[in-house]
Amino acid sequence: MSDSFLRGRTALVTGSNSGIGLAIAQRLAAAGCTVAVHGLGTPAQIADAVAAVEAAGGGQSRHFDADLRDVAAIDQLMADVADWSHGGVDILVNNAGIQHTAPLADMPPEKWDAILAINLSSAFHTMRHALPAMASRGYGRVINIASVHGLVASKEKSPYVASKFGLVGMSKVAALEYAAQESRNSGGITVNCICPGWVETPLIEPQIDAHRGSGSRDDGVRALLAEKQPSLRMSLPDEIASLAVFLCRREAHNLTGSAIPVDGGWTAQ
Ligand code: NAD
Repeated sequence: MSDSFLRGRTALVTGSNSGIGLAIAQRLAAAGCTVAVHGLGTPAQIADAVAAVEAAGGGQSRHFDADLRDVAAIDQLMADVADWSHGGVDILVNNAGIQHTAPLADMPPEKWDAILAINLSSAFHTMRHALPAMASRGYGRVINIASVHGLVASKEKSPYVASKFGLVGMSKVAALEYAAQESRNSGGITVNCICPGWVETPLIEPQIDAHRGSGSRDDGVRALLAEKQPSLRMSLPDEIASLAVFLCRREAHNLTGSAIPVDGGWTAQ
């Protein structure tokens, strides 16, 4: 169902050819937004993602392929997206992310650099480009997909936890800087993090594999959930996406600077 407040707005969702990002892009399109799809993938995967987003509703979608490890590529991405959206997007979802697990002493330094660049620094660069244009129009939403690992730590995830704590902190700074812009009526400028626990996406397959022992994939999923997530249920990407759409609505104008767990009770323990 299209949402009159969101109809005609433009959005960039990084990492939206897969997983949580694709679900957010589809939900925003269904609410009437025109969505810039972004991510690295095969031509077929990208074509499928753009088709799925367009089929959900909204305006004509377009794919952008910047490698978020490269600052110059992010600058170009944001310039291209500003042209495409006639002045800058209304909604920015920093979702792209990667993971690598290993004890801190064994963590390859190049994995540290890549995880910090993609999960944290890229959001700084997209936000510094996007926020001023949002402020000039009186409406803007930044949604950063952090993690429960932006709120609590786990072993063997030093760069991932560092990147997600950093993302939560940086989002609070931006929320404060833009909190007083505009009005209830315009919707204002808000910056928030969503902090999921386990969500069914390709990102966590290596961790499911590591927990299955000699058992099935389902055994791996059960073991992963039993360790940390009290609900013993995974979230689905679409469930994260419906929270993202709520954050974009006018009535969420005063919901800013928050880091919202969707984690089956993980961080309540
Ligand atoms: P996914 O692997 O399905 O998607 C990751 C996306 O990031 C892809 O679109 C990919 O193209 C993009 N990407 C990766 N490297 C890139 C690069 N160098 N340049 C540009 N794009 C790049 O993963 P997902 O599970 O949907 O993860 C999305 C976000 O959600 C991530 O930030 C992740 O940390 C976070 N998250 C996921 C879970 C989970 O359980 N799946 C839990 C908490 C947080």
